[in-house]
Amino acid sequence: MKFHTRREFIKTTALAAASMSLAGPLASRVRAAGPDRKIGFALAGLGRLSTYQLAPALQKTAHCRLAGIVTGHPAKAEQWKAEYQIPDRNIYNYDNMEKMADNPDIDVVYVVTPNALHAEHSIKAARAGKHVLCEKPMEVSVEKCRQIIDACKQAGRQLAIGYRLHFEPNNLECARLAREKVFGDVKIIEASFGFPIGDPTQWRLNRALAGGGPLMDVGIYALQATRYLMGEEPAEVSAMTTVTDPVKFKEVEESIVWQAKFPGGALAYCNATYGAQGLSRFTACAEKGWFKLDPAFNYGGIHGVRSDKQEIRLPAIDQFAAEMDDFAQCILNNQPTRVPGEEGLRDVKIMMAIYEAAHTGKTVSLA
Ligand code: NAD
Repeated sequence: MKFHTRREFIKTTALAAASMSLAGPLASRVRAAGPDRKIGFALAGLGRLSTYQLAPALQKTAHCRLAGIVTGHPAKAEQWKAEYQIPDRNIYNYDNMEKMADNPDIDVVYVVTPNALHAEHSIKAARAGKHVLCEKPMEVSVEKCRQIIDACKQAGRQLAIGYRLHFEPNNLECARLAREKVFGDVKIIEASFGFPIGDPTQWRLNRALAGGGPLMDVGIYALQATRYLMGEEPAEVSAMTTVTDPVKFKEVEESIVWQAKFPGGALAYCNATYGAQGLSRFTACAEKGWFKLDPAFNYGGIHGVRSDKQEIRLPAIDQFAAEMDDFAQCILNNQPTRVPGEEGLRDVKIMMAIYEAAHTGKTVSLA
């Protein structure tokens, strides 16, 4: 898709953003007045995502600043303190997060720990009076997702899930094409995301910490795409898993394929894998044409094409900076986020149904 003017681009992406926004009901009190104030973020969990994406992205934001960290490793705390000039009073570990309650420098805790620790760390943050941005998948069970939502509601704090693609212009444009029925009703969607996983000792292969395999980690992007393209929730799912390396994949699936039927009759078939390269894409097929992104879900380089040969290649943005700036603005303006906890819970509920379908061999209804 080509835009001739900046105004045309902004108008179209804003329209697309509005069309796929799934704003939730949460709103919260703002801690301190002043809409031009920068929102202080504390990153909880200083692994790869925090180190290579979130901390650099925070430097590019307009409304956020890296104010603090939560880490279980004193050596990492020293490194981050030196690199980002973080004062000692803004450095916490997982056991003293409640002390943040007295620290007005920190408005938001961005929870970036392994999936099954999201509830523990999000709830601690909410109880300390902080807004919560929680990485995907929200948690490893519906019950734990609900606990996070309840804790944030009780604390009167906002909760958002780290769905960066809700801010990515090419994905937004495809949601617009689908929802405005530019090629007619979308009838079939194919969506895939995967990569060959490395280190066999990492938490992503540990069921207790990850909650599952590639479905929880990257399949969630394919699932999200089917949902934001359709603007509907799947009514039923069926699925199959496989393991070809039983040493590495002792606890979680290596690859999974699933199918979903939407209430309007559209079908999606999707897959996710920790075993193969080349999967980061979706294609949406409608009666009068089709459109696709390949790659669709990466941090950069997202582009695609439509059946009328128009390219889909909107300017790349830092998705994490956009996601954090948006949350900061929601807090500053006391507005609901387009990626609320309820959205995270919906995905976890569907993923649990997909696992149930794979384990039982039966179609599972989500009605
Ligand atoms: P990582 O393994 O690189 O980092 C995890 C961090 O959690 C480490 O700093 C580790 O020390 C800390 N941690 C705390 N308690 C732990 C425990 N008991 N066991 C293991 N680690 C523990 O992982 P990551 O890739 O940074 O992923 C973190 C979260 O971010 C996950 O939920 C993941 O799904 C999500 N993520 C999202 C994206 C995205 O594009 N939005 C990309 C990557 C990861």
